[in-house]
Amino acid sequence: MGRALKILFTTSELYPLVKTGGLADVAQGLTEALHELGTDVRLCLPAYRSVLDKLAPPHQLAQFHIEGCRFPVRLLLTRLPGEDLPLYLVDIPEYFDRVGGPYGTAEGDDWPDNPARFAAFCRVCAALAQGRLDPDWQPEVVHSNDWQTALVPALLALEPRRPACVFTIHNLAYQGRFPAETFSRLALPAPLWAPDGLEFYGDLSFIKGGLLFADWLTTVSPTYAQEIQTPQFGYGLDPILRWRRERLVGILNGVDYRQWDPRRDPFIPAHYGPDDLSGKAKDKAALCRQFHLEGDPESPVAAFIGRLVEQKGVDLILDALPTLLEAGLRLVILGTGDAGLEQRVRRAAEAHPGRVAAHLGYSEPLAHLMEAGADLFLMPSRFEPCGLNQIYSLRYGTVPVVHRTGGLADSVVDATEATLAHGSATGFQFHPATPEALIEAVSRALILYPHRQRWQTLMQQGMRQDFSWQRAAAHYLALYRRALGG
Ligand code: ADP
Repeated sequence: MGRALKILFTTSELYPLVKTGGLADVAQGLTEALHELGTDVRLCLPAYRSVLDKLAPPHQLAQFHIEGCRFPVRLLLTRLPGEDLPLYLVDIPEYFDRVGGPYGTAEGDDWPDNPARFAAFCRVCAALAQGRLDPDWQPEVVHSNDWQTALVPALLALEPRRPACVFTIHNLAYQGRFPAETFSRLALPAPLWAPDGLEFYGDLSFIKGGLLFADWLTTVSPTYAQEIQTPQFGYGLDPILRWRRERLVGILNGVDYRQWDPRRDPFIPAHYGPDDLSGKAKDKAALCRQFHLEGDPESPVAAFIGRLVEQKGVDLILDALPTLLEAGLRLVILGTGDAGLEQRVRRAAEAHPGRVAAHLGYSEPLAHLMEAGADLFLMPSRFEPCGLNQIYSLRYGTVPVVHRTGGLADSVVDATEATLAHGSATGFQFHPATPEALIEAVSRALILYPHRQRWQTLMQQGMRQDFSWQRAAAHYLALYRRALGG
């Protein structure tokens, strides 16, 4: 075996230390799988207060000042708890040692100094990537993620010799766009202010740093890689993505089956698997008790879990609700988000006690119970770069009904006469993202549902799918080698 490939993975989130969305899961799952593949992969994360609180005091590697940041910086080195992965922490207390989330207050307002916070983080990552901070280690590949670390490839592009750069888009909707004067306030290198640099319609765009300067771009599903090249999904960045399409690939995320498998899930009352489904009925009963659902225990229960924002399309479910209830469906919703959507969900539950129930909060235990106990999982996202819950649902035999977009299109096989006969069907897809199309797909599911044998075959086909990180990590490793010209 050759020398272990050295990879620096820069991220603003990392499960289980700090998480707001899928990026945190990718940062953990992908790096761990890369480590298992024999690479020397290391993570770099801001030293948020909530992160330091969860760790033993880390070792201080260096203390220094960087350009554009008036506060002193410390680089810390520790290991990700439970894993064997080295973790660098960028400690700038003025930026990261505060109460609240990684990007904003508990109330949901962005931190006003976000550009300064993440520009400083990127500068430290770039210096680390150039071997200037840790005398014992220099990466050959730097993998950055989303706008918060998108300046890393841009800063490295100014260096005569630098590691290969890979940039992953987890959600193009978040771009790190700020007024033009931010650029000079951050004292970013002057050559980067150009239309083929960080300037975007007169503003500063962090994400453009990744899109233009990384050697390779990836996003989290093949379909999303195509969609973001169109005006509908590209938010004005689609011309750049079309221009770079030869260097843009979609790699479907993996999931962590150690946490999401009904054969050993500690959050659910009864375990089950594809060869013995009997436990699922007990979990369904527990779910119905938990949410005070009434009615025939055999009648189908559908679940929705996710952020209550326009992207996730929960409003389509609410618009379709009268028809879905008439068809005999019961519904449980778990999520938090926009006040207006929360209010609509609350009203729907109040209007249909025993048929519709909701928990407006964040709850891992309930998410697991719902995945195990429900019959159908509704995911009508208007766009979905990858999505995790539909993949969990497959493993739990909770048949997904999804809008045919992004990672939803790539992970669920629509049940048609042909795919059912062939045994490849795993769920139901619909298009476009309208209540009518959703109703049509749910109706197809409800027609099949009473045919227990055929329904079970559909469940089992989904349960046997493998979306583990090993598969995705092998794709990334091949891409790193390509980026190095190997
Ligand atoms: P996104 O990253 O766009 O929010 P994903 O489907 O990729 O969507 O990942 C969301 C993750 O967060 C999933 O693991 C999902 O179960 C979880 N999640 C979202 N909302 C809640 C909630 N209210 N309670 C528990 N888990 C949630």
